[in-house]
Amino acid sequence: MSFDDVNRFFDRAAKALGLAADLVVQLRQPSRQLRVELNIRRDDGTVGTFVGYRVQHDNSRGPYKGGLRFHPSVDEDEATALASLMTWKTAVAGVPFGGAKGGIAVDPTTLSAGELERLTRRFVGQIHDIIGDTVDIPAPDMNTNAQVMAWIMDEYSRFHGFHPGVVTGKPVELFGSLGREEATGRGLLIAIDSYLKAEGRAIPGQTFVVQGFGNVGSHAARLLHEAGGTVVGFGDHTASFYDPKGLDVPGALAHVRAHKTLADWRGGPAIARDAILAAECDVLVPAALGGVITRETAPELRCRLVAEGANGPVTPEADDILQKRGIVSLPDIFANAGGVTVSYFEWVQNIQQLAWDEARVRTELDVIMRRAFTALTDAARTHAVDLRTAAFIVAVERVARATRLRGL
Ligand code: NAD
Repeated sequence: MSFDDVNRFFDRAAKALGLAADLVVQLRQPSRQLRVELNIRRDDGTVGTFVGYRVQHDNSRGPYKGGLRFHPSVDEDEATALASLMTWKTAVAGVPFGGAKGGIAVDPTTLSAGELERLTRRFVGQIHDIIGDTVDIPAPDMNTNAQVMAWIMDEYSRFHGFHPGVVTGKPVELFGSLGREEATGRGLLIAIDSYLKAEGRAIPGQTFVVQGFGNVGSHAARLLHEAGGTVVGFGDHTASFYDPKGLDVPGALAHVRAHKTLADWRGGPAIARDAILAAECDVLVPAALGGVITRETAPELRCRLVAEGANGPVTPEADDILQKRGIVSLPDIFANAGGVTVSYFEWVQNIQQLAWDEARVRTELDVIMRRAFTALTDAARTHAVDLRTAAFIVAVERVARATRLRGL
């Protein structure tokens, strides 16, 4: 997903809202794009050089907020696209944050644990002046986890003292929130449930396929299974599986806990890795990379609903094809907003220096996701548009209002 792609969705909403030309320019542009060089000592004594990014898109509704991704695809354009998606996502969820994103262009599987820690700390050394609990708050994304967030919190404290709210997605033992790890998956479950209920359907009786079995995909598969759905397919970057009668989700989760990936799992019929997108189901949940549903793959989908766990999984061309085919998309800026919503809860707990129990996290997440769904369906009805355009309309309207109220 490129920044241009996100802006094609943004432009549709701006047009529907009749947004003034000066606001269109202000809202599109990122506030800051930072590129940093990161040199670390490798275990073999040589010096490794990497490039990191932090893009801050908009902070009119609150501090910048968005994940850090460690992946070879990370570059300035991808970080900018994902930062702007965060601006629209925090606005759809109605949490008081703006949008940011960043990361390091690296394949972390090529690093030892020590190298990964040194690289993370060096990155914080380069960006600590532009992050902070009232400024810009990073979180986990692809290939980053609670341990990486703990290193970020620790390294930041060397420069600025005790500020656990500088980063979210921390370990529960270190100022993290109960329920944060599964939050994006749980948010997806609520999003899908809201949509199906509005259609007079329910999760039991529906079949699901999940692409990606990391943080988002594995929790989504587990929660859909626990809610009575039939998970007929899933896959990660190593292997995919499909069985129309339903797969052994707990077995796959146990395998991934022990071996990190689905490679060598023998619990179900294997299919070609990339065949997972075209596997027949009621609901497809892309929860891996962006840009996977394209002009080429969109005609092959055999589902009725796409629930976007990943950020930017559907390109604008594919979006047009899906709409023509009558396949509905629950857009990323709504469907995967559970993560940033519980990140918000974590930040609130850090600021107030108290801890919520898990039941409270789940209840409040449910309220926010269902309120966002109502806002989306209201906008879709009012403007006679699809749910993605409706989500952008809700978001752009909220950010535009804050921008106008603040003034120049
Ligand atoms: P993760 O690193 O925990 O998991 C990524 C998964 O994708 C892994 O199972 C990996 O094997 C799989 N994958 C990678 N390449 C693949 C390929 N070519 N084919 C099939 N599977 C492939 O990352 P995550 O945190 O679960 O993030 C996944 C997506 O969800 C990303 O797009 C991310 O931006 C988005 N997202 C994450 C969160 C969050 O809270 N972690 C919140 C909102 C959105």
